[in-house]
Amino acid sequence: EKCVVAVDGPSGSGKSTVSRRLASAVDGVYLDTGAMYRAITWAVLQGGADLADPDAIAKIALETELSIGTDPLAPHFAANGTNVDAPIRGSEVTGAVSAVAAVPAVRKHLVALQRAIIAAHPRIIVEGRDIASVVAPDADLKVYLTASAAARAARRSAENATDVAATEADLARRDKLDSSRAVDPLKQASDAIEVDTTGMGIDEVVQHLLGLLNS
Ligand code: C5P
Repeated sequence: EKCVVAVDGPSGSGKSTVSRRLASAVDGVYLDTGAMYRAITWAVLQGGADLADPDAIAKIALETELSIGTDPLAPHFAANGTNVDAPIRGSEVTGAVSAVAAVPAVRKHLVALQRAIIAAHPRIIVEGRDIASVVAPDADLKVYLTASAAARAARRSAENATDVAATEADLARRDKLDSSRAVDPLKQASDAIEVDTTGMGIDEVVQHLLGLLNS
């Protein structure tokens, strides 16, 4: 039967790794909505749009042809035919993505795409910020992953081989930008189950979520 799991939380909370592992465990697919915002941001930067001009950003976003991979073992992304797996993790895109994601027309467009992808797959794990609250409020399981600021920064810097202090400052900057919007995508859905992953291993978190799914 249909099974949709919403995994929300801030960067470094472990959502990507956990969501991919959970998707494999239930023989389902994986949708990384943050990567969708990042791929659109890559296209906006390529197009040379002024990040202070929402109309220019929206125009490029709506014209961009996204190819969205949902294989949990190899979730590849392309924008306008170019593979963007590497650049969407780079500092240029990371520095601009909050501004692009704040444009209402961009969100409307991507939420519609996300809903279509969810409808097309019987079992899907969807990770993001606004999945339980906006994209899929009817999901079978909604979890909100958290972790201490220090734990999140340590994980991210281990992933990207960057300085922990700089990473912690960047995460704090993005959280602040992401949560200062009119429509706050970081806002936790009231019925999401909060899981604090500080000090928990990946396996432990995945097992915990499988338990919630089967309960
Ligand atoms: O999860 P990730 O760090 O890749 O997300 C990148 C950015 O995309 C976030 O900082 C946020 O601005 C935006 N985002 C969003 N809504 C989502 C997923 C990501 O606004 N559902």
